[in-house]
Amino acid sequence: MRKIEKIELFPVAIPLNHPYKSATRTATHSEDIVVKITCEGVSGWGGAPLRSFPTGETLKSAYQILDEYLVPAVADCNPFDRELIVHRMEKAIPFHHSPKAAIDCAVHDLIGRMLGCPVYDLLGGKIRDEMPAFDILPLESPERTAELAAESMAMGITSFKVKMNRDTKTSVARVAAAREAAGDAAHIVVDANMSWTPKLAVQMCARIEEFGVTMVEQPVPGNDLDGLEFVNKNTRIPICADESFRPDYLAEIARRRAADIVNLKVNREGGLLHAKKAAALIEIHGIEGICGSVIHSALNDAACAHLFASTPVIVYNESGKAPAWHDEDIVTGFEAEGGVVKVPEGPGLGVEVNEEAVQKFRLDV
Ligand SMILES: [Mg+2]
Repeated sequence: MRKIEKIELFPVAIPLNHPYKSATRTATHSEDIVVKITCEGVSGWGGAPLRSFPTGETLKSAYQILDEYLVPAVADCNPFDRELIVHRMEKAIPFHHSPKAAIDCAVHDLIGRMLGCPVYDLLGGKIRDEMPAFDILPLESPERTAELAAESMAMGITSFKVKMNRDTKTSVARVAAAREAAGDAAHIVVDANMSWTPKLAVQMCARIEEFGVTMVEQPVPGNDLDGLEFVNKNTRIPICADESFRPDYLAEIARRRAADIVNLKVNREGGLLHAKKAAALIEIHGIEGICGSVIHSALNDAACAHLFASTPVIVYNESGKAPAWHDEDIVTGFEAEGGVVKVPEGPGLGVEVNEEAVQKFRLDV
């Protein structure tokens, strides 16, 4: 019987080439626990991208959870037993979805490499070959926002997420600047990262409607499902649940129609297997999904790309431009070209981990 032979953990902090500012944080590095799982001489890789908001997970806590709970729980498993592996992890300790996702993604990469097939074939098969590159415009001045949007447009990128916060005047000016720089045809969504009260959110939706915004993400705090429902019922712009999208909130969001869209982040779902189940749930309720990894390594981008490629209810993926946030990533084989990102085609996740770069950015925790 096949058996996992070795699980290695590499905590890393990969420098960003410009700061990522949202309403909940400013990041200068992508923090991740990179997991390498080996079986029969083949290795698979997965990542646990970490954001202390909203998950409460840090580099140190994720490393400890992996080292003390998750690795021992799955160490003697057959890597092909994906359901058993996630079941063992759930039994070992609740929550801690990002470290669980790292093991789940590494297992998917490993199985794909052992079988010689892409991960999307393990997830139902491919329905899409490519996706538009996607740029995140952080909390900068309207002038800087226009510059960043123009730089991306010059690279062929035409899809943008504009970050917003409690400074409503600058937030509106930022989306206006993005629209002016990107032109009428660009796809623009905004993300308030929980900045607003429900009534302020309804006002803000009315103010930005003229800029052709097609989605407002997480206008109110993540645990305020009443507020989210109020906003969704009082604006014409589709509302997306992101920080609200905890697995235990999903049924409630669907029942109330508190959002039209949910953001299915692979790390926050606990991996690809759980993300596929969440996607099935929202599909049943007529809610659309998006996915993406924002500023994390292309290891996570690739996992998101395979989820997107194999899941019709996920309407777009935000991972496209993420490599441009790093001058050097730990992974090669996932780049935007002319505004388009191809779904990786090689075995497993279809990208190659640069082990020298992993060592270069490795941290002691
Ligand atoms: Mg968001």
